[in-house]
Amino acid sequence: MTKGVVYLRIGIPRALLYFWYGSAWETFLRYCGFEVVTSPPTNKQQIELGVRSAQDEICLPVKVFLGHVRYLVDIERVDAVLVPHLIQVELGCYICPKFMGLPDMVRMVLPSNFLLYIWRSDRKTPLWSINAIPPEIRSRTATRIAMEALQAAQAKHRECWRELAVEKPAANSATIGLIAHPYCLYDDGLNLGLLKRLNNAGVQVIRPEMVPDKWFTKSDPGLNKPLFWTLGRRVLGSAMYYANLKVDGVIHLSAFACGPESVVGEVVARRLHEHQISFLHINLDEHTGEAGFATRVEAFLDLLARRKTVCG
Ligand code: SF4
Repeated sequence: MTKGVVYLRIGIPRALLYFWYGSAWETFLRYCGFEVVTSPPTNKQQIELGVRSAQDEICLPVKVFLGHVRYLVDIERVDAVLVPHLIQVELGCYICPKFMGLPDMVRMVLPSNFLLYIWRSDRKTPLWSINAIPPEIRSRTATRIAMEALQAAQAKHRECWRELAVEKPAANSATIGLIAHPYCLYDDGLNLGLLKRLNNAGVQVIRPEMVPDKWFTKSDPGLNKPLFWTLGRRVLGSAMYYANLKVDGVIHLSAFACGPESVVGEVVARRLHEHQISFLHINLDEHTGEAGFATRVEAFLDLLARRKTVCG
């Protein structure tokens, strides 16, 4: 229910941690009375806009985020863009440094006076707290409305999380564990429709959101301290959970130029090898072609089917 007056059209880029928090941010802004424009699912136009706007060495998901921002500003003509500045979303670990620099990178690609509403979360500012709300929104919204909107946003977030954790029944007996950051896994435009391809093949898929939380806090015996990246912990914890379940295979999607994954991916590969789990690693970049991608996935599924027939 809208409780306030419509002030502005605020754009939300459908990229990066939108896939965890986006519908909660939409709920929050609508509750406060703003008009919300979410960019459409990633397509070639947004990828090209992002690639043209970003430095070459930036990872693909951040380029895609910049492409969504440019789409909202240049094509949708929104009045402001909501940019998450997420440093910490859970106690004791951190989101990658690229998220810390995201508002600055966005500023670099937009006109200097363009309105950026920055949703900040760090060690002292929980994600769904009054201080996380962009100051421009806080100053325009009554505190009572803002508090109610935060509660509505949290409820929406819990609902979305429950949906992500639901296991979908599949026709095929093969089970594949997927490991990836949410913006690689749930962005069909970025991952060339991997989930749809696996669904069409009738494969049973397990995703990190279905993994019990305790697996993300386990220490790896080969590392002398726990990983301090939230997303890295989820990647490694998911891999270990899948190995423990003895899934038929694991697909690891990562993004080219991702610093944390260059470390975590190596540990994941070693652990899955030790557990003799078949493993496909795909590193996505803006040049990844659909034909080659489809061939690799199909060949992996064929290999799993053959292994099952031969080894039982
Ligand atoms: S974790 Fe990797 S893919 Fe994600 S934003 Fe950071 S560098 Fe990019």
